[in-house]
Amino acid sequence: MYSIITHLYKVAKAGTLAILQIILRRGLGQKAKKMLLLCLMKDIKNILAEASVGSAITAKGWVRTKRETKNAIFIELNDGSSFNGLQCVFDAHGLSKENAAALSRSNTGAALSVSGTLIDSPASGQAVELKADSVTVIGECPADSYPLQKKAHSLEFLREIAHLRPRTNTIGAAARMRDEMAYAVHSFFHERGFRYIHTPIITASDCEGAGEMFQVTNLDLDALVKSGQPADYAKDFFGKKAYLSVSGQLNVECYALALGKVYTFGPTFRAENSNTTRHLAEFWMIEPEFSFAELPDNMALAEEFIKYLFGWAMERCGEDLAFFDKRVQPGLIAMLEEVKNKKFAHMSYTDAVKELEKKSSSFEFKPYWGCDLQSEHERYLTESVIGGPVIVTDYPKELKAFYMRLNEDGKTVRAMDVLVPRIGEIIGGSEREYRYDVLLENIKAKGLDPEPYWWYLELRKFGSAPHSGFGLGFERLLRYVTGLENIRDVIPFPRAVKQAEF
Ligand code: ATP
Ligand code: MN
Repeated sequence: MYSIITHLYKVAKAGTLAILQIILRRGLGQKAKKMLLLCLMKDIKNILAEASVGSAITAKGWVRTKRETKNAIFIELNDGSSFNGLQCVFDAHGLSKENAAALSRSNTGAALSVSGTLIDSPASGQAVELKADSVTVIGECPADSYPLQKKAHSLEFLREIAHLRPRTNTIGAAARMRDEMAYAVHSFFHERGFRYIHTPIITASDCEGAGEMFQVTNLDLDALVKSGQPADYAKDFFGKKAYLSVSGQLNVECYALALGKVYTFGPTFRAENSNTTRHLAEFWMIEPEFSFAELPDNMALAEEFIKYLFGWAMERCGEDLAFFDKRVQPGLIAMLEEVKNKKFAHMSYTDAVKELEKKSSSFEFKPYWGCDLQSEHERYLTESVIGGPVIVTDYPKELKAFYMRLNEDGKTVRAMDVLVPRIGEIIGGSEREYRYDVLLENIKAKGLDPEPYWWYLELRKFGSAPHSGFGLGFERLLRYVTGLENIRDVIPFPRAVKQAEF
């Protein structure tokens, strides 16, 4: 069977593919199946990894570069399936008229279909190459107006052509890693029995009580301004003020207290006017929440999670990661390796502040018990005090949100921040306050109106149980695993202050 399929594979043309598909539905051995899949998909990634020398291949993709010598014409064809493209080589002598005409139109960026035979590459750059015998131009790409020429472009410039930038090495690699990391997130939680819950994007409650939310309305604002009347939100779509969610946590807690182990992973929004390399107005957040779990369980889950994600990146994103390591952030792979292999240190906020106070004069913000840890403090703790990842716990209650469990001392809450070298905080989480009276007190103490939280409070009335969770900003994770400094380069179409083009 295998040899028949191999033969079919070698002669595979459009017509035979249908027959192959029928055969595929029958029981086949692993090797034969792989071969068949290769005929059907023929991504350059598959061709480079699995096709055998001597096979007839048709590859479709976009021209990265075209190079001519006296004897040959080289086209580097990339279809985005992998970092590396397929080198297609045409014999310059005896080129057919059709091929010559097509090649003259095959500029950088053009979409092509190239057929030929896979051979061992005589050159050092790649193991195999395509000895091409025919080429068709699927879509031309005029050289005089295509913004992505052969030369290197700055990331700033690429942000202005976000519709084309995925065709570059850097943004293409970032997009593939983003996909892999999303898959890793789901895989991690499902292996551990966590259920994926879709929490709402529109909400009427402000989770953190921190403001900075985008309002959602279908009131006619122009008419309202003209009338000079105050807005009547009873007439608004939801009958009250509504916002884009800053976090899915409060909603996902409801499901944790029913399904046990859950997580949400979706877009969240912050109208913060901070033009930094770490903040977006629209970003994705991963928020697990699990019941009958206290702070130490939460810390263990967070550590396991980070290690799993970094391990996944190293195992499955080899080429892309190697590129980032070489061109964007030297030492990246070693750093991921180190975090993956090191036991995370634990330290209370109080001890952390003692450490910081020893170095007080070297910080821009003077550390003291009760201060919010600044980025410089966090980095000093992880990079200099510990020399590796550290989980800081038990922060003063004034610094943290109302839903965190109050400690016996009445001053601190069971919060945890996971700090890693180079970035500082990567994960923030806590054990949740599960005692009704204490929670109500906390809400009031933060100056919040308890009324909109009635349903959240009820969770503490009906079968309340200790539960814990954390949040990881997906793009912050991606900044770390790609080494890309600017958060706008790890999301396809960034939304930030004054930026919503594309
Ligand atoms: P920061 O101090 O960096 O602004 P934060 O304390 O406001 O963060 P949280 O409210 O704890 O952050 O949000 C949880 C996680 O969401 C953060 O740890 C971070 O990974 C991510 N995050 C927060 N704000 C943004 C943003 N504007 N853009 C991208 N990710 C964000
Ligand atoms: Mn913030």
